[in-house]
Amino acid sequence: MTKRQASPETTTPAVQATSRPRRRASEVSAEPVVERVPRKRDVRAKVREADFVVIGAGSGGVAAARRAASHGARVILVERDAIGGTCVNRGCVPKKMLSYGAGWASILSTCLAHTGGKEDWRDAIVRVNAEVARLNASYKQRLNEAGVEIWHGEASFNDRGDIVVGNEVIRPRKVLVATGARPVPLPVPGGELVTSSDDVFTWQTVPASIAVIGGGYIAVEMASILSRYGVKVDLLVREDRLLKRFDHDIAAALAEALTAKGVRIHFRTEVTMVSQSNGANEVCYTQENNPGRTQTVRAQAVLAAIGRQPNVEGLGLEALGVKLDEHGGIRVDRQFRSSVRAIHAIGDCMAGNLHLTPVAVAQGRWLADRLFDKRGDIADFDAVPTAVFCEPAIGAVGLTEAEAIEAAGGKADRVRTEIRRFVSLENRFGGLAQQSVFKLVFNARSGRVLGAHLMDGAAPEIIQTFAVALRLGVKASHLKTTMPLHPTVAEELFG
Ligand code: NDP
Repeated sequence: MTKRQASPETTTPAVQATSRPRRRASEVSAEPVVERVPRKRDVRAKVREADFVVIGAGSGGVAAARRAASHGARVILVERDAIGGTCVNRGCVPKKMLSYGAGWASILSTCLAHTGGKEDWRDAIVRVNAEVARLNASYKQRLNEAGVEIWHGEASFNDRGDIVVGNEVIRPRKVLVATGARPVPLPVPGGELVTSSDDVFTWQTVPASIAVIGGGYIAVEMASILSRYGVKVDLLVREDRLLKRFDHDIAAALAEALTAKGVRIHFRTEVTMVSQSNGANEVCYTQENNPGRTQTVRAQAVLAAIGRQPNVEGLGLEALGVKLDEHGGIRVDRQFRSSVRAIHAIGDCMAGNLHLTPVAVAQGRWLADRLFDKRGDIADFDAVPTAVFCEPAIGAVGLTEAEAIEAAGGKADRVRTEIRRFVSLENRFGGLAQQSVFKLVFNARSGRVLGAHLMDGAAPEIIQTFAVALRLGVKASHLKTTMPLHPTVAEELFG
């Protein structure tokens, strides 16, 4: 198939069509691996030309770079840290692996109480690091095979819109900023004493106790994982519930489950200060019902997971006229173009985006297709399945009950829900009383499923497939007439 030329659509910065014939990925891949580390001692800046420069080798950036290269574009991917970004190095992958270890340990420690079979952090982190290293190498190899040049260094735009890395300058036709996000620092005195989820994966041992601040994805996942590795956890949550964006019944069931597993949850708390005394940290907080009284939690470590902010500082975007939102996210249109048309943004650094790996990957691939091949279906970002990898895990897709009522103009009678609570075979086998909770939200008139919200170890796996059914307009009648598969937890959705 002949590759079409990339779109000539451009407005600055310094975006020029290149005259060199573009090579197909297969031609490029036969060349030796080129991994450039710009050298500081070069005096005169050399100008390189590229069809596509991707800044940030996280999930979105890597996906976009590979796809663009597969269309024959000359691609340069710039990353200042390890390939794979947050997901591979300090997010999804190490988190899920630690979670597996802890999950098995909880079953084994019940069944094999005589062995005292607990998962050991030190041992677990060695296995996690081995997998992260394998993934780093595999990402690199696949990029090389696709013909993507990898440069290590910090990228920024100069005033012409060229990209400067060390002493080298690249003149791109198109740019993708996919620099991701980083933890928001805790904005109170002593905030610098607080660690973030990034650091957890570097720990060789776990602290005896930890105060976790936040009630979102990361705080809940970290509280759950660390408590299963034997850490005494206090979870300080600003709201009166966990996981504000999830269905309230599931969030309430999770709070109960975490409490039963020993996590001490303090709701409606406002952290005011962190300090150190006698070798421990002290977290001062007030509670909504008694704002005049300062209370404290003492813990060996403090972790804040209060959201993530886009990595845009130092890129020189604003000087070029790229518009950012009030959180520093890059504003883009439906085609991921910023206010400077040749500069695009996807993933966690994009304004108003869902901070989820598959969302960034889908955006990156679509953009690369559009820029260099003029085709491609955009993913459906309305029904995005999501999971929280705590124990028990949460999986959700579609509207919560509250969102469905709001969408029905506040008319609660237009929304019907079904909720099932049961103890899974897995938990029964382990002698655990832990309940699983499945909640479905329907349009009361048509029976159409508007949302599915599950709490069970298998929830994330089930919800991935259920997202397809939801997009296709699955109704209560379909669920009733689909043969359930027995014995599974998923069968609780049917019949
Ligand atoms: P979230 O947005 O999920 O949650 C932030 C939490 O911190 C909220 O409970 C918020 O409370 C609270 N908070 C904000 N400011 C303060 C403050 N000053 N003091 C105390 N609490 C505060 O952010 P996370 O950091 O947990 O995660 C970031 C993103 O990463 C998520 O949005 C998610 O998209 C992604 N992620 C996804 C995962 C997955 O798919 N499994 C795993 C991990 C992360 P309030 O509600 O009151 O604002």
